[in-house]
Amino acid sequence: MLSRLPKLFLPACLALFLWLDGCAQAATWFVATNGFDTNTGTSNSPFATFTRAQSAAAAGDTVWLRGGTYFLSNTNLTATNAPWVIVNNVTKNNISYVAWPGELPVFDFSNVRPPIANSNRVTAFLVTASGCTFKGFDVVGVQVDVALQHTQSENFRIAGGNFNRFEQLRMHDGMANGWYLTSGASNLVLNCDAYNNRGLDSGSLGNTDGFGCHPSSTSGKGNIIRGCRAWFNSDDGYDCINAFAVVTFDHCWAFWNGYFTNFASSTGDGNGVKGGGYGVSGSSFPTPIPRQVIEFCVAVRNRANGIYANHHLDGQTWINNTSYHNSVNYDMLCSTNNSSSAGDCPGYNHIMKNNLGYKGGTEVKNLGPVNDTNFNYFTLPISIATNDFMTLDESLLTASRRTNGDLPYINFARLTNTSDCINAGTNQGFAFYGTAPDLGAFEFGPTNAPNPTIARVGTNLIFTASGWANRTNYLLASTNLLLAVSQWPFIGTNLSNLSGDCTFTNGISSGSAANFYRIGLP
Ligand code: CA
Ligand code: CA
Repeated sequence: MLSRLPKLFLPACLALFLWLDGCAQAATWFVATNGFDTNTGTSNSPFATFTRAQSAAAAGDTVWLRGGTYFLSNTNLTATNAPWVIVNNVTKNNISYVAWPGELPVFDFSNVRPPIANSNRVTAFLVTASGCTFKGFDVVGVQVDVALQHTQSENFRIAGGNFNRFEQLRMHDGMANGWYLTSGASNLVLNCDAYNNRGLDSGSLGNTDGFGCHPSSTSGKGNIIRGCRAWFNSDDGYDCINAFAVVTFDHCWAFWNGYFTNFASSTGDGNGVKGGGYGVSGSSFPTPIPRQVIEFCVAVRNRANGIYANHHLDGQTWINNTSYHNSVNYDMLCSTNNSSSAGDCPGYNHIMKNNLGYKGGTEVKNLGPVNDTNFNYFTLPISIATNDFMTLDESLLTASRRTNGDLPYINFARLTNTSDCINAGTNQGFAFYGTAPDLGAFEFGPTNAPNPTIARVGTNLIFTASGWANRTNYLLASTNLLLAVSQWPFIGTNLSNLSGDCTFTNGISSGSAANFYRIGLP
């Protein structure tokens, strides 16, 4: 890592002026737990509710959400769309709803209680708007009806919105789907967590997924779920049954789904990533059948299948996934028709490359002869054992995310330097180290390059870097960029924490010459 101080500061200043000019028309609004909707919405006079802020805001505006817990109740309902009641009805385009830096807003829906006027489902945030951003807050406690069977609620339901961004949201400890799309295109779900979402009864337990992406028309293209985690959801971690357009699951982790927190069965389906299908009861399906994409995902100890094709009517694309300790690590079941399970058949037309599995009750199931399956752990002349992995400690999967919201850097399921999975894969167009891609979701080598930042605080320079969990780092400085690295003066060492973050502080005096800095591993 190389940084030259003057060059870092100059573009930052230019960028600031450009930003001010471009944002001159946009307004900001504030929502706080001590606010009132009769206020003016300024930082000193914040609103109380998300809904009031939306009504004040116009396209391009930002609504800042201050930290603390917002307790919602039936008085906050804004719409009824039987069988749903809607709390926050997001209809205005191009507005950003963002947590105030350093604060955590929590929206608690546990006192929004159906049924009300024949409605037995709750949608905490219904999004029919496009171009909005939702970032940095928690949604908790969303309820389902206590008396009726087979009901379903949602933390977020996207019903027609396009180009929205859902980032660093945590949807947890309720009875509802975390994030759920029924129509809309090009939405990005980035670095979100959905956990401890469980229904109440045989119906709702089997309806509560972490993330569900089910675009109901062929125009619902380009939805991407990336960098997310789903655990202890009573049905599946990720589900795209009945998707009429391609859905991409990229760098997502699914673990412990289909279980309650004591690992008793939830009775829901219990799959990690359920990548497609149209049921087997005659429901409609698109032509052609979309080829769903599941890449760089990690599935661990889900009650049923870690990675599951779910009776899909054609093949899907499965690249560089790691599936460990599931009842079945890879179940590639397809179907020849949509009318009954009698059409179920071994999977066909799948593209599977660079996938890795270990310790499944069954490793690979329902995979027929007509597939492209070279370069997987089950087709290569390699053996997988515990010593292929740095650790298989599942508890690391819930580690805190990095400060920018990225998945934590953990050693779970990372390859040891003697593993025969290293360079055993085949090039699929993604960056890799060495002579070829490795098997599984984590490439061996310094691919998780630290993300360095530099800031000046008084007479100190503060360097931070992330990406190397629990490893020793060092800092070098030189006024001469051309000097051999071995001759750069040594400033200090530090140990990254388990999330991979480290910080160096270096004092400077006024009039110092420009310095170059390197952060590296020994
Ligand atoms: Ca499901
Ligand atoms: Ca490699």
